[in-house]
Amino acid sequence: MNHADPDPASPVDLRLGPGLVLSDPRQAPTPGWVEIVGGRIHHVGPEPTPAVAIEAVSLHDRIVIPALVNTHCHTSQQLGRGLADDVDLLTWLHDRIWPYEIALTEADAEVSAALCAIEQVRSGTTTIADPGGRHVDGMARGLEAVGIRAFLGRSTMDSGDGRPALDCDDLAEALDRQDDLARRWHGRGRMRFSYTLRTIFNCSDELIVATAERAAALGTVVQMHVAEVPEELSFSLSTRGATTVRHLGSLGVLGPRFLAVHATWVDDDEIALLAATRTPVSHNAGSNLKILGVPRVAEWIEAGVVVALGTDGAPSNNRMSMIDEMWLASLTQKGRRVDPTVLPAGEVLAMATTGGAKALGLADEIGRIEVGMAADLVIVDPRTANMSPLHDPHAALVTSMKSENVESVLCEGQWLMRDRVITTVDEAAVIDEARSRAAAIRSRM
Ligand SMILES: [Zn+2]
Repeated sequence: MNHADPDPASPVDLRLGPGLVLSDPRQAPTPGWVEIVGGRIHHVGPEPTPAVAIEAVSLHDRIVIPALVNTHCHTSQQLGRGLADDVDLLTWLHDRIWPYEIALTEADAEVSAALCAIEQVRSGTTTIADPGGRHVDGMARGLEAVGIRAFLGRSTMDSGDGRPALDCDDLAEALDRQDDLARRWHGRGRMRFSYTLRTIFNCSDELIVATAERAAALGTVVQMHVAEVPEELSFSLSTRGATTVRHLGSLGVLGPRFLAVHATWVDDDEIALLAATRTPVSHNAGSNLKILGVPRVAEWIEAGVVVALGTDGAPSNNRMSMIDEMWLASLTQKGRRVDPTVLPAGEVLAMATTGGAKALGLADEIGRIEVGMAADLVIVDPRTANMSPLHDPHAALVTSMKSENVESVLCEGQWLMRDRVITTVDEAAVIDEARSRAAAIRSRM
């Protein structure tokens, strides 16, 4: 616990307490108070400071947790939820998702992103990494309206078969488009830009290397779908002479700012390589179970890989809730190893908070409730049928919490949801518009 020794004469903006506080996701929550000044955590401790509070919220029986970090969230696919169920990956991508993406307008992308952001807030997430769509300006506007923190990206490809007709940039065009978006969005409010690579099927080695260089120059992350299906490994072997992760290692692009998404099919040597290069991996338990397979996440953690969680997109999950992802991530590994001790609650909560923060280069900013960090907080109300009784509050945050238990959400001290009401946009209007736009998109596909 930390005490900032505040000046009693200067008021705090918001005082939360007394309640249970999950300061460090790996440790059980303890009774205490949280105070916020200027969007940052000013005090965490068993007692409040003597300062006057401009606003005070009683946490009677609630739990305050760090807001969750979704490291793989396709915001522009939100209006495609339900378009691609029960089909194989190539049908999913070529016959369902690419036609959907081609039919999507910039205005559609804005509504899609807003709807996605609302679902994120409702399930306790305030930071997302979007691996990219085609209408980044629209996506950014939708996310800004709801108020969450986001890494934007443009889905980038420069080669390979089957690319949609509107996505046939060459190397220079693919990089120029991203540079332009980076100039306009990186560091604007809660928006950051990240360079993205779709998959090795559609990215040349020149694009991969140049992308990593540009991301390093901007001080941001690269996002890439990696080792998703066995077919990808055969493709990499036949075109590059090595499986995807090995090949990325030999190109010199792996590292703490290279977010490897999925990595479903990696062998022991590749796991060791990810650990040695401190390359974070975004594990998407729901979409893996649906489409890709079950990766050996427990072994990744044992090898020292930084593991974060993500929902993936609405057509591949279809629940865009990090709370569901925590539960699935835990259960799939326990079942796969037939060992109930793997991925205990603290480990899974860390993946969803500090792991995500590390994966996005924000370890000093978000993921824990600690003095000086951004006030990204979730107030959980466990007084429901699904969370009662509460013998073990730490485990219950993974085993029995659902989105319905998320009562209020703060991002940098701003209420994005208060008493289950989204405060920044008219949620019902966004849902209405999303439904009518989704129908129109489907008719254009
Ligand atoms: Zn993805």
